[in-house]
Amino acid sequence: MADAPPVDESHIGETPLLRVEHPDVPCEVYAKPEWYNLHAHPYGGGSVKSRIARSMLDAAAAADDLNDDALVVEPSSGNTGTALARLGVARGYDVEIVMPAEAPVEKAEAIRAAGGTVTVAPDYETMLAVADRRVTEADAYMPDQYANPANPAVHERTTGPEIRAQTAERVTHFVAGAGSGGTVTGVGRALRERGDVTVVGYEPAEPRHGIDGLKYVRGSRYHDPAVYAADELDAVLSISTADAYYEARRLRERYAERDPEIHDTGQYDAALVREHLRADGEFLVGPSSGGALAAVTRLADHGDLGSDDVVVVPFPDRGDRYAHVPLWDDYL
Ligand code: PMP
Repeated sequence: MADAPPVDESHIGETPLLRVEHPDVPCEVYAKPEWYNLHAHPYGGGSVKSRIARSMLDAAAAADDLNDDALVVEPSSGNTGTALARLGVARGYDVEIVMPAEAPVEKAEAIRAAGGTVTVAPDYETMLAVADRRVTEADAYMPDQYANPANPAVHERTTGPEIRAQTAERVTHFVAGAGSGGTVTGVGRALRERGDVTVVGYEPAEPRHGIDGLKYVRGSRYHDPAVYAADELDAVLSISTADAYYEARRLRERYAERDPEIHDTGQYDAALVREHLRADGEFLVGPSSGGALAAVTRLADHGDLGSDDVVVVPFPDRGDRYAHVPLWDDYL
């Protein structure tokens, strides 16, 4: 079994809420920086997927689907794989992540550093077939975030209620990208219990070479994930990669000289949040965070946001893991 770096699972969830000013949006905008999940882990790479890795492993253990020495196999573009490797190895499982060659090299490194192994498939289509074959060959367990109800359920149980509490029930809109669709579906369910919240999803305009973490393969079961309840959403927007990168770059520029206001620290202390926000001296968010801001801007452009509205978006991961795409280049 691989070496298991220590993981403090209590450092999952209750992430901070940041106030994010946006010149094109007439109302308050807040973001949940999800890279704080497992922030203290020496190998970094925390993301929104820490939440579902824990809930899926818990559900499997409770259902007796995992022996003590089980092999966990999951196809992933990186964040789910990193989270499963960190939690799974620490719990004593072997973890093998099947990644497409085009996925971020930083995420493959994070998986290996956590004690997992990486099997590289040529592309996204092949990744699914390779993972299925490995499950059969090795009698492994696949959590399958695309079909696992523990994925949206953890967002309904934790992320959504956190947003309601951190905004003192003032949230009027939640806007998030759909990869598996677990975040927008689960948070949407928690917010809709209140009755008057608008829940908007967005999908990548270019599914095959689009926004990282949101691309899924047309014609496969990953194109219409079972956990993604698009019919429950108030709207689904289509966001281009260029618009997502543009918004991430504008955010960095707006906050070049100052930090975003920490509205609520969640389970972390304010000094630590400030330190981590600018870990690289800059406020960097990943492409899907930029995409969420692009979707909010679209709503504002269409006159769908008023001055009393309170919009919340997830920032699923940090932008320091995207050297493989021109996220920070000047070409836009
Ligand atoms: N952003 C990033 C960076 C991701 O990795 C993912 C999931 N792959 C998402 C957004 C979308 O989250 P969800 O799967 O809950 O829809």
